[in-house]
Amino acid sequence: MDQSWNILNDYKQKFPHYGTLLEIMKSVYRLRRETGPGDRRNSYPGNRTEAVERLRSGESLVNPVKYPIADFHSKEYFLSLLSLLETVHGIDANSLRRAAAMAAENGYEEMALDLFAGKVYEETGDGSDSNGDDVVFNIMPFLLRESLKPYFSSLAAEFSAEIAGADWSQPFCPVCSQPADMAIIRDDGRHLFCLQCDCEWHFKRLQCPVCGNTSTEELAYFTVENGNGGSDDDPYRVDVCHRCHGYIKTIDARKKEGLLIPELENIITIHLDLLAEAEGFQRIGRKTSAK
Ligand SMILES: [Zn+2]
Ligand SMILES: [Zn+2]
Repeated sequence: MDQSWNILNDYKQKFPHYGTLLEIMKSVYRLRRETGPGDRRNSYPGNRTEAVERLRSGESLVNPVKYPIADFHSKEYFLSLLSLLETVHGIDANSLRRAAAMAAENGYEEMALDLFAGKVYEETGDGSDSNGDDVVFNIMPFLLRESLKPYFSSLAAEFSAEIAGADWSQPFCPVCSQPADMAIIRDDGRHLFCLQCDCEWHFKRLQCPVCGNTSTEELAYFTVENGNGGSDDDPYRVDVCHRCHGYIKTIDARKKEGLLIPELENIITIHLDLLAEAEGFQRIGRKTSAK
C-alpha cells in the first residue's frame, strides 16, 4: 500500500493534468486503508465444485448481469465514498448526494446491475466543460466499480489457484465476466487485466481481444508523445484491430521502472483512450457484456 501511495504522489506531480483524478484516488486510498477489506470469507454465492467446472469450460465465476450482487459491505463502502468525495475540489457534490439518496433507498443493487449491463458508461471527456486543464470523466461508474472492488478482488484471491489451474485464456475476466481493461506484456508473454477484480491472466500475443481476429495484417499499435517518451522505450501503447475497430491499452512491464499499479496506469493513460476514440476505435467494451 505504501509503495502505491508513493507512486500516486509521484504521478500527481508528474501529470498535473490528471490532478483531479489522482486526488480522487488519494481519497479512495485513504478510505480503503480506513475501512479495510471487510470480512468476506467464502463470499462466493454458488457451489465451489461447480465454480471450478465453470472456469474449466470458459465461464466466469460470477455474471453480475444475470445475478445481482447482494453484498452489504459494498453498499456501505459506496456511501462512504460518496460522502468522502464531497470534499474533493471539482466534483459535483449535488450528483454525489443524489446518488447517495438513490443508493440508500435500495437502489444500490440496481445501480450495480446497470453498471455491468453497460447502461452506466465510463466516459472520458476532453476537459472542455471543466474550468482548468483537468481531464474530466464520469465519476459515478468509477465509484460504483470501486465500491464493488473489495468484493470482486476477494473472490479473485479466493479462487486464484483454481483460475490458474483452469488455464483461462478468454478475453473477459474469469471472475466478473467483464471484458479486460488493459493488457500487460511481461517476460512470459501477454496478459490481460481486469481492474474490477485486480485479476490477471494469460492471453495470446497476437489476437484481438475484442473479435478474436488473429490476422497480423489487421492488428497494429500506436504510441504517443506524452512526456513519457513516445519512443521505443515508452511502456505505453494502444493495440488496435482494423477488423472490428476495437482497441486495448497495453503496458510493457519490461520497459517500466518500479512497481506497476494497473489502476494508476489506467488513469495516467487516459490521453491514449481519447486519441484512440478520436481515431474511431472503441474500447473493449463496458457497453456490451461478454457472455
Ligand atoms: Zn473482473
Ligand atoms: Zn478485432
